Amino acid sequence: MPDCPRCHQPIDAQAIACPYCRTSLKAFGHPGIPLHRAEGEAYLCQSCQYDADDTCNFPQRPYARECTLYVDRNQSIATPVYKPRFSLGGWLQRNAALLVVIGLIVISLMIAL
Ligand code: SF4
Ligand SMILES: [Zn+2]
Repeated sequence: MPDCPRCHQPIDAQAIACPYCRTSLKAFGHPGIPLHRAEGEAYLCQSCQYDADDTCNFPQRPYARECTLYVDRNQSIATPVYKPRFSLGGWLQRNAALLVVIGLIVISLMIAL
């Protein structure tokens, strides 16, 4: 069970606001998106991956104390590995209509000749 970033009371992970101190825990209007908050005097951007790789263009950078896109640079981001997979069965299923048309054309040509 996570703790409230302000009062450090245990709170439900899905809570929109802390039931003890009423601190907002999710982005305003987007209750499914966690709102990250800076602790102490440090700014969030100081430890954010998007500040480190210079890909953030949020106007509050580098002084954000609350941010929904924060990613801790010390936690590795799993990069999805794209593995192209070809399966004949899948290709035939996706192109069934084209195969039917080609078959009809071939049969038509055989009859015409
Ligand atoms: S995503 Fe948020 S915390 Fe990260 S650098 Fe940008 S403004 Fe700062
Ligand atoms: Zn609280």
